[in-house]
Amino acid sequence: MISESEALARVLEAVSPLATNDAPLFETLDHFTARDVVATVPIPAFDMSAMDGYALKAAESSPGVPLRVTGEQPAGLDRGLCVENGCVVRIFTGAPIPAGADAVIMQEDVLRDNDHITCTEPVVANENIRRAGADLCRGQFVLRRGERITPGRLAVLSSQGLAKIPVHTPPRVAVLSTGDEIVRPGDAPLKPGQIYNSNGVMLRALLAQTGIHQSTHVHCGDDLEATVNTLRRLMAENDAVVLSGGVSVGDHDQIKPAMRQLGIEPQLWCVKVKPGKPFLFATQHEPRPTHLFGLPGNPVSSFVTFMLFVRPALLKMMGASSEGVLPRLIPVTAGVDLINEGDRPHYLRGTLTSGRFMPFGLQQSHALLSLSRSDVLLRLDAGQSLKAGDTTQAWLLD
Ligand code: AMP
Ligand code: MG
Repeated sequence: MISESEALARVLEAVSPLATNDAPLFETLDHFTARDVVATVPIPAFDMSAMDGYALKAAESSPGVPLRVTGEQPAGLDRGLCVENGCVVRIFTGAPIPAGADAVIMQEDVLRDNDHITCTEPVVANENIRRAGADLCRGQFVLRRGERITPGRLAVLSSQGLAKIPVHTPPRVAVLSTGDEIVRPGDAPLKPGQIYNSNGVMLRALLAQTGIHQSTHVHCGDDLEATVNTLRRLMAENDAVVLSGGVSVGDHDQIKPAMRQLGIEPQLWCVKVKPGKPFLFATQHEPRPTHLFGLPGNPVSSFVTFMLFVRPALLKMMGASSEGVLPRLIPVTAGVDLINEGDRPHYLRGTLTSGRFMPFGLQQSHALLSLSRSDVLLRLDAGQSLKAGDTTQAWLLD
């Protein structure tokens, strides 16, 4: 059995970023840029008004002094207006500041009488003016290669006039669930001994959260021939196959025999982690690299091993930077005494309230409810104990 860190290192070493392509902005959400992007359009793009009001000279704007309104500048094309001495220009949010003005007074602080206004509040220079480039200036980094594209980053890319951006093509991934006892939700009611498939949808959802929004799901019973045929097809059609169940050594676990028939050599099998020990990883090199992630069938084991090994590998294939593939750890305080008396690191599921971690429900590998109610995974090393009030780190689940 190897350690988690050794297993992760081996998995990451085996996978490489996929090819890049220029994709329309919206299609790149959750993907990773394949190049640095530097600003060519500043934000704000020009000196603009932050308010609906009047552009004026701050030094002339003492309360009670009448000023003449000589023009109007809405947002849109710059009318090239100028604020002369003793005058103001009516202006609106997002409109360019006319020449000669050094402040904008908001309309609520003004009394208007036909073509004159008087200020009811004092005005200081630069008030309500957004200066060009104050947020982002030309030449500044907008996004670095290997960073994830989020809604906010899409907006800033769009502000640069970009319609497309080069990203790494997301891997084609199939989920293969296995087991004679597994029934598809929505199909016939359960017969004695059967359970509904919960891993299929969970793993596809985890793929979507990783940024792989298109995936397929196939189910296969515990039959060697069917497993061989399904695995062969899925390996040929995808960059990665994430399978659940059948990776142990039970008489009905068909994955390893099927791999043997297909000539796929496991690169690793069994990791010192709880839950998730029987995790298996292999790469088929011909005709092109396809990776096989064999997750244990128990739902929490599937979830945890996906997070520990599959997610980082897929993120690397998507072109994430080496920090980008790591989990998001946050500081937490143990809400109760916690102890791991086992000989493997244990990932506890629990809730997080105001930074306080409380384990939730059963902590066994089949305990789906506790997983469904958890905000974080907290890792306790073999033999580690924490006292209530101790601080540690936990892995924030999205
Ligand atoms: P296995 O790894 O195939 O030995 O399965 C371990 C446990 O996980 C068994 O209790 C299975 O019934 C359960 N299991 C396997 N696959 C699924 C699935 N897709 N959804 C829910 N439970 C599963
Ligand atoms: Mg099984």
